[in-house]
Amino acid sequence: MKQADVVISGGGMVGLTLGLALAQGGFKAVIADAVPAAAILDPKFDGRVSALAYASVRMLTVLGVWEGLAPYAQPIREILVTDGVAGRTASPFSLHFDAQEVGAEALGHIAENRHIRAALYGAVAASKNLELIAPATVKSIKSDGGGAVVLLEDGSEIAAPLVVAADGRESRLRNEMGINLVGWSYPQVGIVATVEHEKPHNGVAYEHFLPSGPFAILPMTGNRSSLVWTEDKKKAPALLALDEAGFNEELSRRFGSHLGKTTATGPPWSYPLSFHLARDFVRPRFALAGDCAHGIHPIAGQGLNLGLKDAAALAEVLLDAARLGRDIGVLDTLKRYERWRRFDSFALAASTDALNRLFSNDIAPLRHLRDLGLGIVDAIGPARRFFMRHAGGDMGKLPRLMKGEAA
Ligand SMILES: Cc1cc2nc3c(=O)[nH]c(=O)nc-3n(C[C@H](O)[C@H](O)[C@H](O)COP(=O)(O)OP(=O)(O)OC[C@H]3O[C@@H](n4cnc5c(N)ncnc54)[C@H](O)[C@@H]3O)c2cc1C
Repeated sequence: MKQADVVISGGGMVGLTLGLALAQGGFKAVIADAVPAAAILDPKFDGRVSALAYASVRMLTVLGVWEGLAPYAQPIREILVTDGVAGRTASPFSLHFDAQEVGAEALGHIAENRHIRAALYGAVAASKNLELIAPATVKSIKSDGGGAVVLLEDGSEIAAPLVVAADGRESRLRNEMGINLVGWSYPQVGIVATVEHEKPHNGVAYEHFLPSGPFAILPMTGNRSSLVWTEDKKKAPALLALDEAGFNEELSRRFGSHLGKTTATGPPWSYPLSFHLARDFVRPRFALAGDCAHGIHPIAGQGLNLGLKDAAALAEVLLDAARLGRDIGVLDTLKRYERWRRFDSFALAASTDALNRLFSNDIAPLRHLRDLGLGIVDAIGPARRFFMRHAGGDMGKLPRLMKGEAA
């Protein structure tokens, strides 16, 4: 039977990052993922991009991932937030964030998920203490006082003092360990498309709040942007069924003309949107990380950043325990991780949910109230800087990796 210090079920962006952090700290880690790497790197696998906060970029730099990713990442220099209705003039109140105001080169970076994964795979391949097994589906887990054993679908087993589930929203292991979720589905879907435009975006990201939900335009490398278009679940099928010309027409109605002519470079993608938070993040010999522990609305582009913070915090807690000669799989050790991450995840999940509810409607008094809010925050320098630090991930207790230090 294979032995490791930590077995990670799920080699998504969170599982791979956790594996790297643990291996860099001297642990022997094994990651099992159900999907082969080649399939995940195929451009047809995932149309999404991620906004990486600068705290996440610092972590990826320490882990040796950023070097491979930087050429594919677009710095966000400014963010413009407006409230409006498609086809109508935007409200005169808007919110403008500028990296220069906080003395930063960028407010974050946008990268395609496939490039983030490719850079992670590169770092994993170069890591001595880390093994990625894929395709390998984790079937079940057995644990007792002394350790845990993970059973893979091909019948093989891996033993370790600790198993981490980083296997996404539908986590099999979370269910098997009897950890329940609090949550609900949004009556919205996230439509994602890559768009080419005539004029350069100059690193400006836009968030238009439309009645059906936020419409984000995120700058990518070159004259390209990624749309994350939150649309009413009932209206989305008709939009997705449009032919190329029809879809481009709907797109430019919402996009506006500031970047010249816009054309979607391929068919749009659609993702169901839900909110969920696990009631517990740990059990003896078991911990949750990433979307397996929490799922939030993409309105603020923070889901992955939240998961990367889990990875950084868990690695730090486990390494500290090991340095003191403690067992890394006992509840005492793991509760430190849960206390650190559960409240932070809840706070972000609840605020993104509230933001989505406040802005995804066309109710006049609410519109006036939120426009007033945008105007007030825009007029007050410290408030603007507070939100910029928040978007950059520099809030709450930061794990060492997110400060740019070794775990
Ligand atoms: C429309 C949209 C836009 C978004 N935009 C942003 C953004 O701009 N910024 C941001 O920070 N976040 C964003 N997010 C959120 C972000 O995409 C997720 O939070 C992130 O991908 C979660 O990563 P993960 O590794 O936890 O889970 P996943 O990516 O779901 O990975 C789980 C992995 O586990 C594997 N797996 C599952 N079951 C098993 C099993 N039984 N055995 C072995 N392996 C298994 C899967 O193959 C997969 O590789 C967005 C989300 C959506 C829907």
